[in-house]
Order: sequence, then structure tokens, then C-alpha cells
Amino acid sequence: MSTLALAFDLGGTELRGALVERSGDVIARVSAPTMSGAGSEAVIGQIIALAGTLLAEHPQAKVVGIGMCAPGPLDPKAGIVIGPPTLAGWHNVPLIDILSRQFGLPVRLENDANAAALGEWRFGAGRGSGSLVFVTVSTGIGGGVVADGHIYHGRRGLAAEIGHMTITGEGERCFCGAVGCFEAVASGTALGRRATKLTTAGDGSLLRRLSNDGDVSARHVVEAARAGDVSALELVAAEAKWLGIGFTNLLHLYSPDLIVMGGGLSNGFDLLAPTIRATVEQRAMQAYRDVPIVPAELGDRAGLVGAASLILWEGEPGTALAMVQDDETKSGAGGKAGAREASQG
Ligand SMILES: [Zn+2]
Repeated sequence: MSTLALAFDLGGTELRGALVERSGDVIARVSAPTMSGAGSEAVIGQIIALAGTLLAEHPQAKVVGIGMCAPGPLDPKAGIVIGPPTLAGWHNVPLIDILSRQFGLPVRLENDANAAALGEWRFGAGRGSGSLVFVTVSTGIGGGVVADGHIYHGRRGLAAEIGHMTITGEGERCFCGAVGCFEAVASGTALGRRATKLTTAGDGSLLRRLSNDGDVSARHVVEAARAGDVSALELVAAEAKWLGIGFTNLLHLYSPDLIVMGGGLSNGFDLLAPTIRATVEQRAMQAYRDVPIVPAELGDRAGLVGAASLILWEGEPGTALAMVQDDETKSGAGGKAGAREASQG
């Protein structure tokens, strides 16, 4: 059996574990509802139990390490989960220390959005690219940046809080306390809230019928838009415009080879894409307008395979293809010589 990593994706509602090959193939998966109110010791106990299940099912597995992702804020270098809002009782938990002592294996820790970015870059929609921005749009908006073959961490690993870039001066207050965050206007939650405001219980609209006259969610909006409902289509267009504005900022800041959109709302990517594209073409400077914006490919395993790759691909530079692209860019300096000749002529 080939070399494997144990991978864990610790979420506020679900804890997932897997055995992952170097190719990114998942050979076994387990999950459990996260005991998110029970404190860090209980959840670490769950991680150890899931690892036991995976290893018992695959006794021949040659596990070389553990790749782990968890919600931020966390410090990937120090291996410390600082205090995610979705996990009660986690304050500066030295997760790498605890797990490496428990298993006697190397452990790597990464922010969940960064791990998903890495997963999509190595094995998914961003395969073969040098740089990408991954944006996950669901309850909130998160993201990760792979720049020139490496996750861009910034100070204390806190870079790329895409959801909290200010995008307007108005609207609902974000949970972070600010007004006008990308997440506050463009998340699935924000879309559901706009749809709920636009309709009323018992008005007979398709949106309210889909929600059984309860609050309308982003999923209902996408479903109604697919059925051709006019107000749902307008909501989708407004949502796509906000996403397009945010993505334009990301293009200007990071100049990625592509933007990959994941998260629950990417189920409606085909509906959103035309207006996202049109908004980018309206707002981005010329040189950034042709950058592909594509849906994520790996779904909910992006974080797991990305975390596993921290172990299985440790120390590897960017992909071979990215290196080739760089070389082509360099040899493209010949173009300058051509321009000089032209100016002489
Ligand atoms: Zn915010």
C-alpha cells in the first residue's frame, strides 16, 4: 500500500477524517457531529477515536503523518488554534503538540479555508496553475490565496480574510462589528436575508412556498431561479454583482491565474457566473479581465486533501506546470527586444 496521511477537517458542526494518498485520492472517510460545546479535550478525544476507526479498517496503511485543518484564527507555524467563534472552550490550544505526542507522527495544521485553497490548487479546479484565490461563499465568506506555489500566510497566518474586506459603506452590520464587509453583503446568509425581506409569509411566492413560509435561504433562491422565478433571478443578479465587485478587488490585489469559487452557493455558480463576469469586465482594469473564474471541483473534501498534502507534499515547490509557465514568461522578454526593434523601425 502506498504512503498515506491521516487528515482531519474540524468544523463547528462536523468533524471529518480521512486516509488520503499522495495523489489526493481519499481511500477512507469517517465523520461525526463535532461536540462543539464540550470544549477542546472532548473534541480532541473525537479526533483520536476517528483515527482509531480509520486505522482499524486499514491495518496495512502506511501513515506518515497527520494533516489537520480547523477554523481560524489559528497559527499554522506554532500549531495553535487561537479561538474560533464556532468552537466553545478553545483558547490557544496547542493542537500540533497534543496530536504529535498522541500518535508519534508529524502533524501539520492549517486554517480550513487555506487548506481548501491548497486542495483545489493541487488536486482540483486550480491544478497546474501558479497562483489562485479560493473563495468559499456559504454562511460566511472565507478564502485562501496560493501565491507562486505557496499559501500566502502573512503575519501570524492571518492573511486573506476575504470576507471582511470592506466593500460598501452601507448595509447590515457584520458579526465582526464593521459595516460593509464582503461577507455581510454577499454571503449565502445575506442572500437569504434579502430574499426573506423581499417576500412575506403566506404571499404565495415561489420563494416562500419553497421555504414553507419560513425564512428564505440562499438554497431556495437558487432553486427558484432555476425554475425561472423573476424575483429570484433578480436576487441572483444582485448577489452576483456583489460577488463580482469582491472578485475584482481580489484580482487587483493578488493577480491570480484563476479564482475558484466554492462553498454552498457554488451550487448556483452557473446562474451567478454571467453577472459576475460582466461586473468584473466593467470594473477590473484591462489586464485582469481575462482571468478565469471557475467553480470548485472537490466539494467538502477540499480541506481534507489540502491538509493531507501538507504532509505528503511537504517541501515541494510549485507544480511542474507552474514552473514551465514561469519560464515561458521569462523567455517572453524576447517580446521586449521585438518592441525595441519596432521602435527603431
Ligand atoms: Zn466583517
